[in-house]
Amino acid sequence: LRGVVALDGPSGTGKSTVSRRLAAELGAAYLDTGAMYRAVTLAVLRAEVDTGDPAEVTRVARAARLTMGTDPLAPAVLLDDEGVEQQIRGPEVTGAVSAVSAVAEVRELLVATQRELIAGALEEPGGVVVEGRDIGTVVAPEAGLKVYLTASSDARALRRTKQDSSEGRDGDLGSTHADVVRRDALDSGRKVAPLRRADDAMELDTTELDVAGVVEQLNKLVES
Ligand code: C5P
Repeated sequence: LRGVVALDGPSGTGKSTVSRRLAAELGAAYLDTGAMYRAVTLAVLRAEVDTGDPAEVTRVARAARLTMGTDPLAPAVLLDDEGVEQQIRGPEVTGAVSAVSAVAEVRELLVATQRELIAGALEEPGGVVVEGRDIGTVVAPEAGLKVYLTASSDARALRRTKQDSSEGRDGDLGSTHADVVRRDALDSGRKVAPLRRADDAMELDTTELDVAGVVEQLNKLVES
């Protein structure tokens, strides 16, 4: 899978922003796997199912029809034909997504879909930039380039807070910091596909870098 760039790391490392920009610059497709877990979580919340009940969560996930756009300039997320790009970023989904993404059957289902989307994207020239938590370890372990983005929890909370306010969502730094730390602990501590750097992934600490700086580093890694 030479044409695959796998970008993993915890929340608030700037992954989505830099992945989209890198894909656009490379003329590559883009796949946001976090958006898929978020869309399934939205379906679970709408079905008023207990997120702690794996069988019910799996039932909703199987019934949900997800359509992912792979254009980095307009990454569409459709749940049963409805555009849910905004809804999946709200606090309810963010609060529940780690529980839903810890369900083994949900991961199995979404990883299979992700591999199909990657295979489809690779039929076009330009390759595909895929971002998530387990791309280098599980979804595409044979990716041509794997990068693991990190940043201090303070920097990550600050970025999330700025992003939330620029997109019209409330949130203060203290509660966002707590959420970032909580979600990382859940994502790293879960049994199935926990968040971790793949042994052969390059680690890039983005604490002191702005978006352009991270994209520049990534472009260098792609070229090398
Ligand atoms: O990247 P984003 O913050 O949108 O991801 C939301 C959540 O989806 C993560 O906190 C994690 O629980 C889950 N996720 C995952 N595996 C991925 C991508 C996201 O478990 N590949």
